[in-house]
Amino acid sequence: MEGFPPDHKVRAFLGSLVGGVGTTLFNRGIVIEWSGRGGLIRNLVRGKREENRAATTHFQRKGEGMRLIVLGSGGYHPSERRHTLCHVIPEAGVILDAGTGFFRVGRFLDEQPWHIFLTHAHLDHIIGLTYYWSVSRDRSLGPITVWGSDKTIEAVKRHLFSEPLFPKMPPYEFALILPGEKVTVPSERESGEFTVTSFPLSHPGGAQGYRFDFQDRSVAYVTDTTAAARPTYVQKIMCVDVLIHEAYFPPGYEDLALQTGHVSSVQAAEVARECQAKRLLLVHVNPLSEDSDPLRIMEVRAVFPNVTVAEDGMSLAF
Ligand SMILES: [Zn+2]
Ligand SMILES: [Zn+2]
Repeated sequence: MEGFPPDHKVRAFLGSLVGGVGTTLFNRGIVIEWSGRGGLIRNLVRGKREENRAATTHFQRKGEGMRLIVLGSGGYHPSERRHTLCHVIPEAGVILDAGTGFFRVGRFLDEQPWHIFLTHAHLDHIIGLTYYWSVSRDRSLGPITVWGSDKTIEAVKRHLFSEPLFPKMPPYEFALILPGEKVTVPSERESGEFTVTSFPLSHPGGAQGYRFDFQDRSVAYVTDTTAAARPTYVQKIMCVDVLIHEAYFPPGYEDLALQTGHVSSVQAAEVARECQAKRLLLVHVNPLSEDSDPLRIMEVRAVFPNVTVAEDGMSLAF
């Protein structure tokens, strides 16, 4: 089967890295890289030299496509194993949410424009914005635009960066993308301009998901949401190459998921099947779960086979 390597194999390898030592390795600039096309672990990228190369010449990898790199895969609060949500698509200069995993983003930033897309203003998705002064250290950065709904941007500016909480506002630019809106983002990168479509999700306080259409591939990002929003957003994410979808709970916890504004892993798989996604990456995993199989992957795979559970440090080629 083409696609993600079997989860147990990834876990077998990552378990030795990500479980404990992995965080340290990651901090030292090592990216665990694996291919979506059958390869297991392709590469270990080490050290500052490679970091800089990776940050400046992504698209010299032309023909190899784009990468989705998981910097934080957990929900609510960081755990020993997972920081909270943050993903980067280096070839497009795109960052998805800015949870605690954002502290790992510095190695990717360069002098070209970057775009951070926020799903909502819950702290596990925005707290990393305050790490700017650390991630920008020793680097000259291009403009960074923070995108979100009017409600989210207002909350970030007014509360996260209020004087008592964080007195030194980083030089972010802010831009609105309202639920239902479609925006074309110009880019000097070789990946070219791309379009972003936002759509409303169902979550306490509100949230919105995104679909990104690059030149010849697409990614959808759906977190945090209940299954109640599914009929409205599935049509927006039809046939994407990669669907990144939250799954806070294993199967059997659908009632609790609904009460807390989330879905179970099988509900996420049903979305992937319905929208005919090519691959599904499950994120926003419950940090309290110490289970080695927190989302009961075999039950998920029975609904949608090409699925994996995100781990911090994964790099998915698509
Ligand atoms: Zn969350
Ligand atoms: Zn939330």
